[in-house]
Amino acid sequence: MKIDGHTHTHYCPHGSGDNVELMIQKAIELDFDEYHITEHSPIPSSFKSRLQPMEVIDTLAMNEREVDGYVKEMIALKGKYKDRITVKVGFELDYLPMDTEWTKHFLHEYGKYCDTGLLSVHFLEGLDGWRCIDYQAEDTLDGLVNYYGRVEDFQLAYYEIVKQSILVDLGQYKPKRIGHMTLCNKFKQFLQCEETKVIKENQIDILHLIKQEQYELDVNTAGLFKPYCGETYPPIDVIEYARQLRIPLVYGSDSHGVKDIGRGYEMVNLV
Ligand SMILES: [Zn+2]
Ligand SMILES: [Zn+2]
Repeated sequence: MKIDGHTHTHYCPHGSGDNVELMIQKAIELDFDEYHITEHSPIPSSFKSRLQPMEVIDTLAMNEREVDGYVKEMIALKGKYKDRITVKVGFELDYLPMDTEWTKHFLHEYGKYCDTGLLSVHFLEGLDGWRCIDYQAEDTLDGLVNYYGRVEDFQLAYYEIVKQSILVDLGQYKPKRIGHMTLCNKFKQFLQCEETKVIKENQIDILHLIKQEQYELDVNTAGLFKPYCGETYPPIDVIEYARQLRIPLVYGSDSHGVKDIGRGYEMVNLV
């Protein structure tokens, strides 16, 4: 079965603005059987006040007032396209270590309408506050890598939060698929990240936690198309290890526009 398990919509302020319906139609053209709409969940104001640089704040996700509209609109599309493709609806939920109460409330309110979802880490504590790890290469270098000291320490800090995200209790509606588990590699070539022994061990530890909790893994091809990355999240050797552990693997294009749908599908051999 051909599934795209990770896509965004016109509700995403850093996306292309393409209407989700055009994206669904493209997925139908490409013979996908299942299409998961997983828009970024809103960022609570408590977290925004901790975030640097300020210019990113309004680009991250829809605001809280838009969520009802998003859910209604996407559920309507599920019905409209049901004879041509199975549409599932949920969120790419951020793990925000200091806002787990807000997150539980969010899931309590909206989890019942969802039949898919991802749990992702996009933020780490850094210079002057919390920072996006995937915003701009220079910003990640100044605000995170230099803050932690070495690039390996930055990567390890990221993996630590990913591990926490797997184990944290967010209630019954917590998403069960871990999004782009090596997003810290997005600027890999710019930052000169190396996959050292300790980094590999951490990646393997994460897979064992995913297995232990009976979660799934997002096999995310977006990194293949990023100029400083050139690999999947996680890299192919980690995907192969996950396969040996029999962790369910779900392809994700992480599309933010029509042109991204299905990208790199043939690279990950999930059929
Ligand atoms: Zn996004
Ligand atoms: Zn993401």
